[in-house]
Amino acid sequence: MEKELFKVGYRTDKLCIRCNEERGHIVTSVTKRGQISRVTCSMCDTVSRFQLASRTLPRPATKAPSPYDRTITYRAGQSMTHEMFGIGEVTKLIEPRKMEVLFHDRLRRLIHAQDHE
Ligand SMILES: [Zn+2]
Repeated sequence: MEKELFKVGYRTDKLCIRCNEERGHIVTSVTKRGQISRVTCSMCDTVSRFQLASRTLPRPATKAPSPYDRTITYRAGQSMTHEMFGIGEVTKLIEPRKMEVLFHDRLRRLIHAQDHE
């Protein structure tokens, strides 16, 4: 019995065959019953089939990253601590001032590189 329900955009961790490392993956498709069927690696974009047996737990951060600051210009791979969402890692920049950040539960879009008011 698997009660946990997932949605596209949620996070799950597993070993990426291409990166050869345990990484946060983004759920890219789910079955009608809310189970993960495909995931995308947050670093290399490799799409793979997902099996619960291959799931790993997120690695604990060795140290808390700096607080998220919308005036900072982030790069992919940088980490931050968000006051509501916790620790996240920038997976990609989608627009000059928008980025995708993978938090412990799901992928979120945040703004960055905003000018000081
Ligand atoms: Zn990968």
